[in-house]
Amino acid sequence: MGRQCRLHPVFFDVVIYIHIPYCRSFCTYCDFYSVVPNCGYGRFTNAVCAETLARAEEIRASVSPSSGCPGTVNTLYIGGGTPSVLPVEEIGRIVAACRAALADPCRPGRQVPFDEFTVEVNPDDIVRKGHEYVETLLGLGVDRVSMGVQSMDDRVLRWMNRRHDVRTARQAYRILRESGVGNISIDLIFGYDICSIVAADGMHPSIADPYGHWSGMLEKALDISGDGSLPQHVSAYQLSVEEGSALAALVADGVYAEAAEDVCAGQYAELCRMLGEAGYSHYEISNFALPGYEAKHNSAYWRHFPYVGIGPAAHSFSVPGIGTPANGAVCRRGSESGADAGDTACGQCLRSWNVPDVDAYIIAALSGSLDSIRESETLTPAQFREEEIMLGLRTSRGVAASLLQSDTLSARNMEKLLRTGSLVPAGGVLPGQPGANHESRLRIPESRFFVSDDIISELL
Ligand code: SF4
Repeated sequence: MGRQCRLHPVFFDVVIYIHIPYCRSFCTYCDFYSVVPNCGYGRFTNAVCAETLARAEEIRASVSPSSGCPGTVNTLYIGGGTPSVLPVEEIGRIVAACRAALADPCRPGRQVPFDEFTVEVNPDDIVRKGHEYVETLLGLGVDRVSMGVQSMDDRVLRWMNRRHDVRTARQAYRILRESGVGNISIDLIFGYDICSIVAADGMHPSIADPYGHWSGMLEKALDISGDGSLPQHVSAYQLSVEEGSALAALVADGVYAEAAEDVCAGQYAELCRMLGEAGYSHYEISNFALPGYEAKHNSAYWRHFPYVGIGPAAHSFSVPGIGTPANGAVCRRGSESGADAGDTACGQCLRSWNVPDVDAYIIAALSGSLDSIRESETLTPAQFREEEIMLGLRTSRGVAASLLQSDTLSARNMEKLLRTGSLVPAGGVLPGQPGANHESRLRIPESRFFVSDDIISELL
């Protein structure tokens, strides 16, 4: 313990994700693991608390000795599923367990402040539970709320089998604001075939204009407050047909036709244009933030930081020796542009996950046999490097040029992509130019984010 206290003088740099696998209904497009709650949540919460405390050492081990380095992160994210179906008392018990797991044995009573604490919510829950629920969440330390709005068209929301309509989304947003939430993120979905959707709603498909519909939708989403103020953060995802989802069955039955690729590309371009003009920075392929509101938790994923995932189907990622110079690792938080995880790859990085089975999870967590429902894989240095490239190139921060140059084929393709404009400098000096060093970074320009998968595949 003494060693830990000497190395870890301050407890931060912790990224914790709690997965709440409950949904009251299932969205047409969804293939995530979730179940309809059929009784109380007490046993589930007990299980989450038990896992959190059982993994306290692991949580504390993800604390970096490099405290004070710029870019440190200390986040808690409660996602799902639909966390807002949980009574707030249950969320309070989970937060208390996280704080207990993080408690500094050298500083009893000292509470670790999270510098970002997000809860995902459904608009319907917020309207039904009201201001008091949101104010209690804020009292627990929540300072960011991510709300699944998805669309501002009731026909689309019905087709998606969402629980809310546009009026409810606006009302929920107002409740969040009035309760004091100063950082709200909304989720949107684009890239659907509006003709199929309005036809399913009994309207003549010829009235649907995919571009006009989407622009109008975006205008309404940006004005969800109704008072001209913008949501701090917008996540916009392209609809995809996932195996096992209700949508896959609609496609197989010929009831729904996927939107053409050029329609999706056009809608994405409009998304970038409108949010750019509204003042958002496009810092990740699907994510836009007003200045200062980039998501710290998700940014930690994209930067390949270690994280601890609690709950059924939750994933964790550990990087042995991270931040520990004795192990040859670098302080990845120490430089905005410096060495990335590719430099720390040691063949011992571990991805682990709890199986997606809530009943098995509860039994295992409450009986102290979590190993029985946990699976894992060790990433080879090559896999680690590939992930680093894939994650980094999703962002405006990009990746270190040296990472691309560390392989003959990707170095050659990097040169080609630089020539064609599919890669551009993201910081430092362009590789090959005088003064280029390990700080040179490359990114995919926003205009080619839509085809990022093709560009990235040329580098792997
Ligand atoms: S999209 Fe979210 S709310 Fe909808 S079913 Fe999936 S996990 Fe539940």
